[in-house]
Amino acid sequence: MSEALMGVYNRAPLEVERGNGMWLHTRDGRAFLDCVAGIATNCLGHAHPRLVAALEEQARKLWHVSNIFRIPGQEELAARLVGATFADAVFFGNSGSEAVECALKAARRYHAVNGAPERIDIVGFAGSFHGRTYAAVNASGNPAYLDGFGPRLPGYVQLTIDDRAAIDEAVRRPTTAAVIVEPVQGEGGARALDGEWLSWLRRLCDAHGVLLIHDEVQSGMGRTGRLFAHQWFDGAEPDIMAVAKALGGGFPIGACLATAAVAGAMTVGAHGSTFGGNPLAMAVGIAAFDEIAREETLANVRAASDRLTTGLRDLVARFPDVAIDVRGKGLLIGIRMVPNNREIMALARDHALLVAGGGENCIRLLPPLTITLDEADEVLRRIEATFAAARVRFAAAA
Ligand code: PMP
Repeated sequence: MSEALMGVYNRAPLEVERGNGMWLHTRDGRAFLDCVAGIATNCLGHAHPRLVAALEEQARKLWHVSNIFRIPGQEELAARLVGATFADAVFFGNSGSEAVECALKAARRYHAVNGAPERIDIVGFAGSFHGRTYAAVNASGNPAYLDGFGPRLPGYVQLTIDDRAAIDEAVRRPTTAAVIVEPVQGEGGARALDGEWLSWLRRLCDAHGVLLIHDEVQSGMGRTGRLFAHQWFDGAEPDIMAVAKALGGGFPIGACLATAAVAGAMTVGAHGSTFGGNPLAMAVGIAAFDEIAREETLANVRAASDRLTTGLRDLVARFPDVAIDVRGKGLLIGIRMVPNNREIMALARDHALLVAGGGENCIRLLPPLTITLDEADEVLRRIEATFAAARVRFAAAA
């Protein structure tokens, strides 16, 4: 590994060179079935022809101008997002963390301009992941990501999803600005929150004038078989939503969506970004949106999810010494492992299968939304081979 790179990543020892659909090819000529998809980002697979064409066409016209000018692509993509969600307005950034940052700022700003500047507290949950900026790591509250970076920021409260009494008490406090939650916790280990809990939280926030932020950076843009995960449920809509990852199909982009009431607080000069919403990102984002939002794509997610989860549950039943359970929603699937998940990820690579890790000792499957049923079957065969190898390896070690 190069010493010229900061050593912040635990990288798999693969030198990746090119991708095609679900396949990722390394420099040394090997091909891997890719269930990482850039961590739920390459939602249409690698090198999707429509995205390549959109990028190439835009690259010849205009890359970047900054937000000093009107950017037609921003207006088009924002109109699509607004048309498909609770939101009335969008701010574009370049990543999930920036989308979260904007969401948190917008929440505080809303209260400040509405005569309640004391409302600054953000309630977040154990097992969440919101990104790596100071605000995002404080909102997530994961000690591993806060260690060594100075004092924790004021105005962040950490609770657990299951402690309704504590959540109720926190939302009633006159200093609370917003609650931030992932409808399906991704990095935390593919934990899908149920609709009853999400709508309860919505009602609680409404009753006390607190804003609800959904972080759909990982669960959004078709990943669960609906455009956004909260859309599976009635009465669960947020006031603010962070979106990124699959929104650009692999091109860096992030978006903060908000109701008119919240967006109204974000007046000229309140926020900004040099690159956010640049023409390249918008051209790819529009093409990606139109592919993802097709009913065929979302129906495929649901069908492939059924195929994978049924097969995985069967494997868990047959390999109780290796895997504990299957969870998640749509194509955000987690399998809790008995052996260390990193060891299973390495064994999967030996079977030319790429899977992600996750909290609670999970491996995560995040295949592109375009995965075919045949490819899903091939994934299952490789997981079966991986589990069989794990049984031999870890039984021998025991
Ligand atoms: N929120 C969620 C739910 C995420 O999964 C991630 C990234 N894994 C982020 C925010 C941060 O996104 P980024 O890495 O693009 O800043």
